This record gives sequence, C-alpha cells and structure tokens, in this order.
Amino acid sequence: MGCIPTKMFVYPADVALEAREGGTVGIDADVTGVRWRDIRDRVFGRVDRYAAGGLRYREGDRCPNVTVFQQEAWFLPESGDGLHRLELADGTVVAGRDIVLSAGSRPVIPSVFRDGAAPFHTNDTIMRLDELPRRVIVVGSGYIAAEFAHVFHGLGSEITVIARGPRLLRSQDDTISELFTSLASEKWDVRLDTEVTATRAVGDGVEVDLTDGSTVPGDVLLVATGRVPNGDTLALSAIGIELDDAGRVPVDQYQRTPVRGVWALGDVSTPYPLRHVANHEARVTAANLLSGWDEPAEATDHRFVPGAVFTHPQVASVGLTEAVARAQGIDVAVAEQKYADIAYGWAMADAEGVCKLIADRSTGLLVGAHILGHQASALIQSAITAMSFSIPAQEFARGQYWIHPALPELVENALLGLANDA
Ligand SMILES: Cc1cc2nc3c(=O)[nH]c(=O)nc-3n(C[C@H](O)[C@H](O)[C@H](O)COP(=O)(O)OP(=O)(O)OC[C@H]3O[C@@H](n4cnc5c(N)ncnc54)[C@H](O)[C@@H]3O)c2cc1C
Repeated sequence: MGCIPTKMFVYPADVALEAREGGTVGIDADVTGVRWRDIRDRVFGRVDRYAAGGLRYREGDRCPNVTVFQQEAWFLPESGDGLHRLELADGTVVAGRDIVLSAGSRPVIPSVFRDGAAPFHTNDTIMRLDELPRRVIVVGSGYIAAEFAHVFHGLGSEITVIARGPRLLRSQDDTISELFTSLASEKWDVRLDTEVTATRAVGDGVEVDLTDGSTVPGDVLLVATGRVPNGDTLALSAIGIELDDAGRVPVDQYQRTPVRGVWALGDVSTPYPLRHVANHEARVTAANLLSGWDEPAEATDHRFVPGAVFTHPQVASVGLTEAVARAQGIDVAVAEQKYADIAYGWAMADAEGVCKLIADRSTGLLVGAHILGHQASALIQSAITAMSFSIPAQEFARGQYWIHPALPELVENALLGLANDA
C-alpha cells in the first residue's frame, strides 16, 4: 500500500510550500522547522494501525470463515480433482475451487543500483527514514518519483531528479508533461536524458555517476524507475497460465484468467495499476464469484480511468491525450483554459495552471481531460462524470450551475472553449 502514506506526506509538504510561497499574495512567512519524525510517526501511527486493525478484523470472530496466512504462496501443479493448490512458505498447502490473485506489484531495481556500492531506497523504505535528508537523489520520472521529489523538496531537502527521457511524467498529455517538467526544473535539479552509470557509498551518503560525465552527491538515493507485477512470484506456469508481455496475469473483462476457477485483480493483472482500479476490479470479482464462472454478473469498466499526481502543482488526467486521440483518427476539438484567466485563479495568483479538454467533434463528447494546478485531483472529477455518463461537453457546461467565483469555473470555461474550436 503506497497511496495513503505518500499522500499523508504530501499534505505537510504542501502546507510548508504554500507558507513559503505566500509572498505572491502578500503574506511573508518562514517555515522555521520541520519535525520529520512527528510527520513520519503521524503517517505510520495511522497507516500501521489501520493495517493491523484490518488484520485483527479478518482473524477475529466477525470473520469466522476467514483464515489468514501471512506468507508467500505459489501454485502447485493441478491434480485433476477440480481444486487448485497453493503451497505456502512454511509448507502448508491450501486448496480451493476458486482462487483470487491480488499479489500486486513491486519496484523495478535496475542492475546499476542492485550491483552498485551505494545503499538505496525504494518507496517502501524511504518513508520510514529517521531523519529528514538534506540532499535527496531521485532516479525516475514517473508519478512516484515526482511525488517523493515534491515531498522532500516541500519539507526542505535539496532534490536532484535523474530522468532517462526528455521529460518528466511522460505518460501525461504533452502540454502537461512539458509544463510540469519546466516548473519542476525551477525547483529541483532535473537531469533529463540521463542515466546512472555507477553508485558509491561516501561517508554517510552516496554519490552517483551519470552518463553526461557528472557526479551527483546526496544523503539518500531513491530508485523509482517503475514497477513490475508480482505474477512471476506465483509459479503460474504450474497451472498453465502464461504472463503477458508486460508480465501481467491475463484476465478477461470478468477478471477470469484462462484457467477455470482462477481470478486476478489489481496490479498483478491490470493495465491500470491504481488503488481505485483495484477496488473496482475487486467488486467485479466478488460479484462474479457469487454468480459463478460461467455466468459472470459484472464486467470491469476501464473506459475512463482517471489518475492524479500529488505534486505541487498537482496533475490529474482522464481519457486520451491529444496525441493519442489524433493517432486514433478522432476529429478532435481542443480547448485550454488557464487558471490565470478565471477569478479564483486570480485570487490564488496562479500563473501556470491549465485545464486542457479534448472532445470528439462528431459527438461533442469529451475524450480526454488534463489539468495541472491547484486541486487538479478534485477538479478532474467533473470531467470524469461527463465522460462516464456520456454527457456532451456543451450540455454539461450549460446544463448546470457552476459556482462563481470558484475553481470549477476552470472546467466550465474550458468546456465553453471547446465550442470555439468545434
Ligand atoms: C508510492 C506509491 C504511491 C501510490 N499512490 C497511489 C495513488 O495516489 N493513487 C492510487 O490510486 N494508487 C496509488 N498507488 C498504486 C496502488 O498502491 C496500487 O495500485 C494498489 O495498492 C494495488 O493493489 P493490489 O491489491 O493489486 O496490490 P497490493 O496493495 O500491492 O497488495 C499485494 C499484496 O500481495 C502480496 N504478495 C505479493 N506476492 C505474493 C505471493 N507470492 N504470496 C503471497 N502474497 C504475495 C504483497 O506482499 C502485498 O501484500 C501507489 C503506489 C505506490 C507504490
């Protein structure tokens, strides 16, 4: 579980940054101290207690039909009696007619770090540090790298981000990814088109050598270079399941793997490794377990999967990027609305934020929405609604009130802007 603890670190980082940036609206404030251990202990005091409570509940009297084994498990070959068997690390064998796989994913660690001489962290370990590091080296350019860079920067660390590609958040729409990279480069030392060639432990810290010939010193090294599904830990070939090219357990829209009685959900099988998607797929799987393998009751809906990056500014998106929409041959209308041109954006002195909407001219329906700026993760929800319920953009803009002068006017104005490009 990474979503809740990271966001609980993001929030204090946001508070500290907003205090420091108050000068733009006439408030001069200093952050005189960051109590890292208090921040960390608040996060894990809540998250660890929540996890322990969940375990107690499942092991307790209220779940008499649940047995919890906290061990690694893998499949044994089929014995032809209609049951699948898992062997556990302590040698116990559990059998079931139906088995649901939700084994998640793990960080990818390139060999330069695995074989290197410097200690490194992943998202699993970095949140439990004892001290706030002065200098953090973040390797990676995706949302996990960006969120941790934001957390440590907000709390006062110096950040170096090393990205293999030409931009950060490359899976986002080009407009958003370019803008985010440019804003991030003003705050962090961002090294693009660069890879790490060697790592060293130096005193209590680390050094990494880069392909451009430079060396970066740091106190802590975070490797956030992607994640891989855990299907390869389950000995699935023993029951005849082959992982797909991306290493995922293959499933159909009912969460059924190719082997009768074996279901999968979440990061181990989904193309959308996000908590809200795992939750949705779990609900679908539960419904289909009840209705039966041959008469699945519900299908998974992956049409409009949204996601957010909890940085400063935030990024949120749903649907297609402009480039993908065009590549799919959609006759697109595109509108961009800046925060700087709506009333609440003036109030916030937001000079950079933007909402970009992409619609299909032939239907008037949104096919993509992308927001960079304050509360992007909340603002995107109205676009998700319009897309999920197939409400044409103009009807969505004019068929309801939008509170004035509130941030959602950003989306309203972008929707109205689509008409100008239609
Ligand atoms: C740093 C970070 C931040 C994130 N932020 C967000 C966010 O803001 N929003 C969001 O939607 N998503 C976020 N995610 C993604 C989200 O955490 C995952 O999509 C979600 O947890 C997937 O749930 P899951 O049930 O598939 O797997 P997990 O929650 O990973 O659970 C898998 C479990 O299976 C166990 N397991 C693995 N292999 C075996 C085995 N062989 N035998 C027994 N047990 C096994 C694992 O130990 C683990 O306990 C974040 C992820 C990370 C790492």
